[in-house]
Amino acid sequence: MEISSIGVVGAGQMGNGIAHVCALAGYDVVMTDISADALSRALSLIEKNLGRQVSRGKISEAEMAAAMARIRTTTTLAELGPTDLVIEAATERETVKQAIFEDLLPHLKPTTILTSNTSSISITRLASRTDRPEKFMGFHFMNPVPVMQLVELIRGIATDEETFKACKSVVDRLGKTAATAEDFPAFIVNRILMPMINEAVYTLYEGVGNVTSIDMAMKLGTNHPMGPLELADFIGLDTCLAIMNVLHDGLADTKYRPCPLLTKYVEAGWLGRKTQRGFYDYRGEVPVPTR
Ligand code: NAD
Repeated sequence: MEISSIGVVGAGQMGNGIAHVCALAGYDVVMTDISADALSRALSLIEKNLGRQVSRGKISEAEMAAAMARIRTTTTLAELGPTDLVIEAATERETVKQAIFEDLLPHLKPTTILTSNTSSISITRLASRTDRPEKFMGFHFMNPVPVMQLVELIRGIATDEETFKACKSVVDRLGKTAATAEDFPAFIVNRILMPMINEAVYTLYEGVGNVTSIDMAMKLGTNHPMGPLELADFIGLDTCLAIMNVLHDGLADTKYRPCPLLTKYVEAGWLGRKTQRGFYDYRGEVPVPTR
């Protein structure tokens, strides 16, 4: 199955990175979002990030221009119809993703592979509500997409081998590495990472440490490039909470109980870097811990 065009749904943190790497690898990209502002912000961010790759000598000016020319944006979901592969990267809420698939399906070619970049929602359940569960997969990039090497490929119960091979060949062409995961809540990376972040929030909540000491302890004590609270702000606290809820509901084990302090930050709208406040306040020159 030859893939030459890719539709990206959602132009947020992940969607813009996915469009960036796909266009750079030579795919024609159509990116859509319900927000026209999100689309124009995504395009300028892609331009800025490609520009940085040029200034570091990683790609040429010509490659940057060709990649930008391969990206088209639209607020009309139906315009993704002719693409060979769709990667959905909209907000991490099952009802949102389901509504997108319902609206999109009547416009898709029967051969189009449909995938979701979801961090935690069941691929089998998302697939079962489409007309093509055998052509449905989890295509899970890491953040920031242009920098991170890994893509988790998640097979739903019905995903066929041809679909898996086609997605694997896309990962190869992007120059990234695929890890295959089975479809259980949060797959591999977030099954391990999110409980660690959640535990860091409990450590803060219980007063074992403050934001600075917790992040410093994990950076210098375990050689992590970012502390867990800094990383949570980077991912988005709403996304972290959504993933903990999926683990808690899906595995029915109290060890996945989201920390009440994480819930509190999300209730406050302090979602991390994207809202300029989370465990750190990013509104000034340097990030300042909020606890
Ligand atoms: P985000 O909040 O930055 O962006 C989501 C985008 O989806 C927004 O621009 C929003 O306008 C758009 N959107 C919402 N409803 C839509 C609809 N009906 N149609 C089209 N667009 C719609 O979120 P994000 O961090 O980019 O996360 C997107 C997906 O990627 C989620 O499923 C998330 O779990 C997953 N993911 C996130 C990370 C991370 O570190 N943030 C990492 C891997 C995977």
